Amino acid sequence: MASSKGKIITVVGSGLIGRSWAMVFLSGGYKVKIYDNQPGQASRAIAEIKKQVEELQEAQMLRGKLSAANQLSLLSSHEDLSEALEGAFFVQECVFEELEAKKSVFQAVENHVGEGVVLSSSTSCLMPSNVFSLVQNRTRCIISHPVNPPYYVRLVELVPHPETLPVVMDMAYELMTEVGQAPVRILKEIDGFALNRVQYAIIAECWRLVKDEVISVKDIDLVMSEGLGMRYAFIGPIETMHLNAPEGLEDYLKRYREGMRRVLSSFGPIPEFDGEAAARINKEICELIPNDQEHLSARRERRDQLLMGLAKLKK
Ligand code: NAD
Repeated sequence: MASSKGKIITVVGSGLIGRSWAMVFLSGGYKVKIYDNQPGQASRAIAEIKKQVEELQEAQMLRGKLSAANQLSLLSSHEDLSEALEGAFFVQECVFEELEAKKSVFQAVENHVGEGVVLSSSTSCLMPSNVFSLVQNRTRCIISHPVNPPYYVRLVELVPHPETLPVVMDMAYELMTEVGQAPVRILKEIDGFALNRVQYAIIAECWRLVKDEVISVKDIDLVMSEGLGMRYAFIGPIETMHLNAPEGLEDYLKRYREGMRRVLSSFGPIPEFDGEAAARINKEICELIPNDQEHLSARRERRDQLLMGLAKLKK
């Protein structure tokens, strides 16, 4: 890919994810123009990004080769969509997770950009066929789904629309790699992409185990944080299988295939996630972490510090 020097990325929607994307792209040396349809929101986002980027520099956790001041000099906010899109080669949409809002944003964006501009959505679980249904040229559309907080958790799921050109997928892959993210290619659209399908499978079984009084909330969370999660931060489940038997994956299957299938066949139905079970699980987690802003913010800050440390360790 050509150098980022002078190239413009427009971020549409400047909430939590829009601000994070802006910081990621700035770290790669791109000029970032932010647009938000709430008056004053994009300039408030700039102030928040400035604070965060300066704090990261202070903590020696700033990403990229440029100083905080140099990165911030590449950033601008715009109240007018066409002005925000002028000169952009890549547009990252980060508005509310509402299908109609996204559809109309992309329809409006397409009216202001040239044919070659890539249109990318941050949607967590809307299908590309729906998100881009009002776009005329869907060959340049893609979903780039980040993980919160994207500055520390590098994964980006790239999901094509059925009409997306392979060259667009490749370009997004290169861009994400260049700015220090870890892209993966989802080869065809599927509800929940990969990350949320795996995440929901884990949540469902954790929920069932607590609901059925097999284990407490505190202990099921420890099963992940002190057990599975420790190695999953470095190696995935398939590599884990490969490493966990002396002769690799085939050996693992010989040893554990039947056991896996027996346990899997005992899984219960999809939980309702409401009623008495939800009230009880909520009570248990709130006893551990009260749901007031002070406690929740402190835990989020601790989470981000640990993620930062982990990201540094993995480099
Ligand atoms: P948010 O509510 O924090 O921010 C949304 C922003 O979009 C707001 O500033 C709002 O004013 C602006 N907006 C709304 N409609 C707009 C429009 N028509 N034009 C321009 N701006 C508009 O939301 P968020 O958490 O940043 O999520 C944004 C997207 O990222 C969603 O699709 C979400 O699913 C996805 N996402 C979120 C997370 C997460 O954990 N928060 C993780 C991955 C992906």
